[in-house]
Amino acid sequence: MKFQPTASHFINGEYVEDTAGEQIDVIYPATGEVIAKLHSATPAIIDQALNAAKAAQAEWAAMSGTERGRVLRRAADIMRERNRELSILETHDTGKPLQETLVADATSGADALEYFGGLAASLTGEHIPLGGGDFVYTIREALGVCVGIGAWNYPTQIACWKGAPALTCGNTMVFKPSETTPLSALKVAEILIEAGAPKGVYNVVQGYGNVGASLITDDRVAKVSLTGSVPTGRKVYAAAADGMKHVTMELGGKSPMIVFDDADIENAVSGAILGNFYSSGQVCSNGTRVFVQKGIKEVFLNRLSERLATAKIGDPLDEDVNFGPMVSENQMNIALGYIEKGKAEGARLVYGGERIDGDGFYMQPTVFADVTDDMTIAREEIFGPVMSVLDFDTEEEVLTRANDTEFGLAAGVFTNDLTRAHRIVAGFEAGTCYINTYNLAPVEAPFGGSKMSGVGRENSKLAINHFSEMKTVYVSMNDVEAPY
Ligand code: NDP
Repeated sequence: MKFQPTASHFINGEYVEDTAGEQIDVIYPATGEVIAKLHSATPAIIDQALNAAKAAQAEWAAMSGTERGRVLRRAADIMRERNRELSILETHDTGKPLQETLVADATSGADALEYFGGLAASLTGEHIPLGGGDFVYTIREALGVCVGIGAWNYPTQIACWKGAPALTCGNTMVFKPSETTPLSALKVAEILIEAGAPKGVYNVVQGYGNVGASLITDDRVAKVSLTGSVPTGRKVYAAAADGMKHVTMELGGKSPMIVFDDADIENAVSGAILGNFYSSGQVCSNGTRVFVQKGIKEVFLNRLSERLATAKIGDPLDEDVNFGPMVSENQMNIALGYIEKGKAEGARLVYGGERIDGDGFYMQPTVFADVTDDMTIAREEIFGPVMSVLDFDTEEEVLTRANDTEFGLAAGVFTNDLTRAHRIVAGFEAGTCYINTYNLAPVEAPFGGSKMSGVGRENSKLAINHFSEMKTVYVSMNDVEAPY
């Protein structure tokens, strides 16, 4: 099998196997073909990974920030040099078109390694002067062993978005990818070793949710960072709370995108396409509730349909193809099920709506119009290429409706009225907002959700606070005054 890794897990700088673990078949979503067979981690493998991470942590944290940063920046360079090879692997793991993976996966992983590598040398505490000559200084310390648990839509990116800030701060990591897309994280682990990371600093174990669950509850673990759905987030957060562990939760969404009648229609349609159909709609921050002001509704829908008709659906390895299969048969069936619900509840299907025949897990980009706020397709995260278009009249009305959801991951507005754009953004209940664009997530900017969509932020300098803690040291320059 062309993509069979040396072994299932990467622990303490080398590939490790335990065939007693449940078999995981890795399927290429474009053809349904099995491209690798791995094994889920057994308790012995989990123990080995946590021991390796624990043993490596003190030495890694004791290295200077400059040295740690150098390792990460070298890893970023290697990832960029191997971008094509890594992108081909990512395309086989996820089904995403090579046109996307070449620019959005190993490259964004490399950005994270470079950005956090660059910060490593400047991570410090502070000096706080007090009265009478006393002072406090703070020491920024690593948390210890961190567990990363990933979703299947951006496996390389997630492995790096969690690994890079964790390692920068002097933590070590055990990362568990989704069993649907287990291959890319192994490459990240290999590259970090090649870049000079000490053994045990970044480990990968494969497995289903039960492997993730046993990692979180282990006493050796100080923090868990999850990218996944809200139901999984609830379980992981509760399990972490029991051990009072730090958490970052990057969860799902049902984000609104508001298009006012003064917006540039082409840009708004582009935003709606990117925010609903990139990666076949399997993006957490997608703006799947597109609120269009009544006067421009038909123009918007017509232009959207015209542009969707030019999407090139097909072999993801063909670089002209810009719309690939769903990650798995299961995920495709979930999305098709929502399309049936949309029809049954009275939404108007204006584009797509069907599975595309063949062995791969292809379905059409799909648009519903006349969607109302209470319909299932407007309330639940679909995680597939299904856009709901809703009408609105006034600014006040649309903001209330946009916020009427348990989720709060992202939100966007298209308008040429500057003050209205900022007013709307100020009113959005969401962690990541966009004005006249959608779904960009540069490593320099904080990324994450409010409400049920998450806790904490990834990327940017803020991520440092989620992977380190401050020790406060009070220094007295005076005699100690005691009452008796
Ligand atoms: P899931 O929540 O099903 O799984 C996420 C990860 O958690 C997987 O590795 C999964 O393993 C693991 N897991 C499942 N149960 C447990 C448990 N009890 N304890 C520990 N780990 C567990 O999400 P999907 O993989 O289906 O990904 C899609 C979801 O991810 C969507 O809701 C999407 O919005 C969200 N997402 C959020 C992003 C963000 O940044 N906010 C970005 C990308 C996706 P296994 O797969 O083996 O079950």
